[in-house]
Amino acid sequence: MTSNGKKIVVIGGGVAGMTAALEAAETGYDVVLVEKEAYLGGRAARMHRYFPKMCPPTCGMEINFKRLRSNPRVTIYTLAKVIRVTGQAGDYEVTIQKKPRRVKDNAVISAEILEKLTSERDNDFNMGMNKTKALYYPHPMAFPAQYVLDAEALSKEDRTYLETECANAVDFNAEPEEIAVKAGAIVIATGWRPYDARKIENLGFGRCANVITNVMMERLASPEGPTGGKLVRPSDGKEIKRVAFAQCAGSRDEKHLPYCSAVCCMGSLKQARYVLEQSPEASVTIFYIDIRTISRHEKFYYELMEDKRVTFVKGKAAQVTENPATGDPIVELEDAVAGKKKKETFDLVVLAAGMEPNTAAEKIPCEGIVYDEYGFVVREEGAKGIFAAGCAQRPVDVARAARQATGAALKAIQCM
Ligand code: SF4
Repeated sequence: MTSNGKKIVVIGGGVAGMTAALEAAETGYDVVLVEKEAYLGGRAARMHRYFPKMCPPTCGMEINFKRLRSNPRVTIYTLAKVIRVTGQAGDYEVTIQKKPRRVKDNAVISAEILEKLTSERDNDFNMGMNKTKALYYPHPMAFPAQYVLDAEALSKEDRTYLETECANAVDFNAEPEEIAVKAGAIVIATGWRPYDARKIENLGFGRCANVITNVMMERLASPEGPTGGKLVRPSDGKEIKRVAFAQCAGSRDEKHLPYCSAVCCMGSLKQARYVLEQSPEASVTIFYIDIRTISRHEKFYYELMEDKRVTFVKGKAAQVTENPATGDPIVELEDAVAGKKKKETFDLVVLAAGMEPNTAAEKIPCEGIVYDEYGFVVREEGAKGIFAAGCAQRPVDVARAARQATGAALKAIQCM
């Protein structure tokens, strides 16, 4: 392929980024894949299962990791971000900054080393619901399969132990590196983050221990999650029997995210299944404005509507408070069909928190990229030779993100 020694730079190593990188590389182009986390997979790697097939993300991820391992055309930088882009379509210079992993390549981190260390850090993969050691393996499916050392989380004693006893494995002297890449085209696949539910003050997140978000629910349901997959209440570890899902938590709300986040209706329907599979005698109530399940996903919704254990209440949760004696969350709302105010008590409330593009908080340092008022990249406008895919441009599910990524890879190839 003619590329004049230039590469395609893909920013973001989630489903969209990996797909774009692989499609371009397997067509014969050299690709540099830049991921800010220590591992690839993005938000999808944190899901317990995908809808509608209810399969774990491991299936698709493993295939992509295998394709990446066997394709020398893809150079992967994790713990990395793009700090500068100059030039124009067909002739960009992209500067990447890579943070040190502080664990040497091929280092063997034994159980004995881990046992000696006492310093811990919040487990961000599990949405902060448990801790990891400061020297940690990001998650069981991590790719690249390497440990990371969070030097800032180390106690003085642990640091001394690692410096003196494990000098072959860790590296405290490594500095951030800058890497310059000549690129013909760039794909932005920087993905999304959950809307900060603490900002939705009326829904109790952060105030009521048993109000969690949908992304936390994915980790609670996962066998690799903080409870080993057992769906229990954060406050007391009690098994959950009455669960409420509050839809549009932050989304379709002028005070927060005015748009529909597209996937959280399907997300809650899927999570209702997690609850009922684990506790067949449990009950689920879904408070909604509209249930948005497009195309073939409608079937998934209809199946759940026929389940007597699931109640759909048309009305947006107005207020969530807590019974101080029991820790039970109480949902108040107006039932739009019955025309009555309601107040119901549950064991757990799950907020279907909306999706924000990562570019809402951190823009790509490149002139000419056009964002809308919410931070999504506007696909049709802006710098030539730069293409967005997946949730960087609008909220989409995993399958749509992958299809858009294939399209972005093809457009990128046309600039080479
Ligand atoms: Fe609300 Fe459903 Fe749209 Fe999410 S997908 S914002 S829950 S309507």
